Amino acid sequence: MSVNDYTTVHIGLDDVDTQFSGCTTHVTYRILKNILNKHSKVTPLDFPNLIRLNPTIPFKTRGNAALALRLKVPTELLDSLKKDVVNEVLKYVSTRVNEDLTSYGVDPGLAFVYGEVSEPLRKLYLKALTDYVHMDYLVNVINELNGRVETPLGLKRGLVGALAAVGAVNLPDCTYELIVYRHPSNYLKERCVDVESIKAMDEEFKHVTFLNYDYSKDKPLITPSGSNPVLLGIRGEDPKALLKAFKSLKICEEIEGWAVFKTNQGTNAHHVRRSLDDVRPYQTGCFEGVVLGRPSTLRGGDVMIKIVDGVSTLNAVAFKETGLNKVLQALMDGDRVEVCGGVKFWTGFGPVLHVDKVSVLDVVGVKYLNPKCPKCGHRMKSLGRGKGWRCPKCGFKASNLARDEIALERKVSLGVYVPVDRAVKHLIMPEVRYGRWRACLDLPMEVTEFIR
Ligand SMILES: [Zn+2]
Repeated sequence: MSVNDYTTVHIGLDDVDTQFSGCTTHVTYRILKNILNKHSKVTPLDFPNLIRLNPTIPFKTRGNAALALRLKVPTELLDSLKKDVVNEVLKYVSTRVNEDLTSYGVDPGLAFVYGEVSEPLRKLYLKALTDYVHMDYLVNVINELNGRVETPLGLKRGLVGALAAVGAVNLPDCTYELIVYRHPSNYLKERCVDVESIKAMDEEFKHVTFLNYDYSKDKPLITPSGSNPVLLGIRGEDPKALLKAFKSLKICEEIEGWAVFKTNQGTNAHHVRRSLDDVRPYQTGCFEGVVLGRPSTLRGGDVMIKIVDGVSTLNAVAFKETGLNKVLQALMDGDRVEVCGGVKFWTGFGPVLHVDKVSVLDVVGVKYLNPKCPKCGHRMKSLGRGKGWRCPKCGFKASNLARDEIALERKVSLGVYVPVDRAVKHLIMPEVRYGRWRACLDLPMEVTEFIR
């Protein structure tokens, strides 16, 4: 073996947590930090990747986060590095399980992929992002990798996300998140981050970050709630700006460390175009059609519309907390829209799209009423298509009257509508990101500057 013998390794992880969101990023952080501390000759080829997958899949961990590390490793170190990774994952799962006295939901997926990320993996990412992945689909992908993959924890459900994260390369749009981890002794305490410094950070960095603070509820959006290892996460467009934003915060508790992740968050990556005859539960996507009938208001203020395209129809619901319910409520029969989101199965309804974006493409501007009777002014009745009109009050008949065209006062304008910031979940593009699309940076600096 020559001294220049290196191997490219992609490490995929998923479901290395219990009911907490964010823990898979935490174990990934620890793995990468340990590798960099121990092996100076291992080079990260990218930021750690934080990949959000299909949010409609019911048994996924909260947050649907899968992770990938991409490393250039001296081939002679490969075996010891793999052992370290497996041990770290097992140790992490067992401590979390013991703390919670439950093994609920833990089905960790771990994969090592060697060499280039091939087409079957890239397709798996798109499928895991927008659809349901059956285990036999996964087995086919593994077979197609032809021995370039190892799955040391076996064939588990979590392997779908682990391999999908590895397949998430060449993203058309991407963002970054700097995640700060709490010192374990603080997990059960209140988070200590100065709120005024969060507002000041938002003011200074709002052009390159997003979802820092909810001014309508006067609440930070960068700090999660509950007992988990994440102190805060700052999301944005540029890793260097995130670092500056982080340094401007006043943090008043001891931390374990932090890392910058490259992500598909806030990019609407799950919004693939689909036609209305291609709707199945657990799919995500965008559907175009014409509104059929009136919107109906459900209990609690959620609003449902039915759209139609040819013979296919789809029910789409906008929940009150997104604010999109008001947009759907203002729609009328005949309006043309594109609705995006994820499809779930509702008993009594069938597939229902949970809307996270609405584009109003065309609105009906007029309505037509039967003509008024020239004799008495009453609205006339049609005698059938092409057969003229008859007044129900005075009996007058006419064949040459046209219907009245009434201009409608519409409460909705053409345009794109997105959820209010506090209802923006991981993959959804928040309002401020519109116009910021761009391809991911190609390693703008030493990755090792972005983990401590
Ligand atoms: Zn009349």
